[in-house]
Amino acid sequence: MARYTEAVCRLCRRENQKLFLKGDRCYSAKCPIIKRENRIPGMHAKGRRKTSEYGLQLREKQKARRTYGLLEKQFHGYFEKAEAMKGATGDNMLQLLERRLDNVVYRLGFGDSRAQARQIVNHGHITVNGKKVNIPSFIVKAGDVIAIAESSTGIEKFKAMREGTAKTIPAWLELTPADLCGKMVELPKREDIDLGIEEHLIVELYSK
Ligand code: SF4
Repeated sequence: MARYTEAVCRLCRRENQKLFLKGDRCYSAKCPIIKRENRIPGMHAKGRRKTSEYGLQLREKQKARRTYGLLEKQFHGYFEKAEAMKGATGDNMLQLLERRLDNVVYRLGFGDSRAQARQIVNHGHITVNGKKVNIPSFIVKAGDVIAIAESSTGIEKFKAMREGTAKTIPAWLELTPADLCGKMVELPKREDIDLGIEEHLIVELYSK
């Protein structure tokens, strides 16, 4: 599957914001954003002009797309699905992105980053309602139970998780560390999504 191969910290520096793409390192003093090395990469960065309305919209879209690790076509697909749903398109789009199985696995703490969570899903370590699912874009529904597959529970990383996790689990999910399993208790609401994304800018961009 196509994916980003760029150095991920560069993506955060470009957006001048932490996108949490590298797991534990993002929370440590080694993060370049924390080290205040957050200048825009590129030799002509200093000469950039004031950002236009289009520029702001584009940057917001790139920030969201990179946070979830998606390519343009995939990301635009979520906008199209969201537009066809009832309710606010921006809210629908963020909710669909949060409901991706790789994101839910990350939010439950089974993966340190969304990229790692995607790999965990791809490698068949995850079950949904007792059945193996290896599709990162699988959309999780309220009430679904997401667990580490029985055959993968011996992996050191998961064994350690049985003791609990320091990670904060969002209110729309529930985790039972001893069973290496979690549940989506309700659909994520807009106020649950703490990414600092101004989704109306993305909707404006794609609605042109
Ligand atoms: Fe790198 Fe993570 Fe810091 Fe982003 S938040 S710059 S990915 S360490």
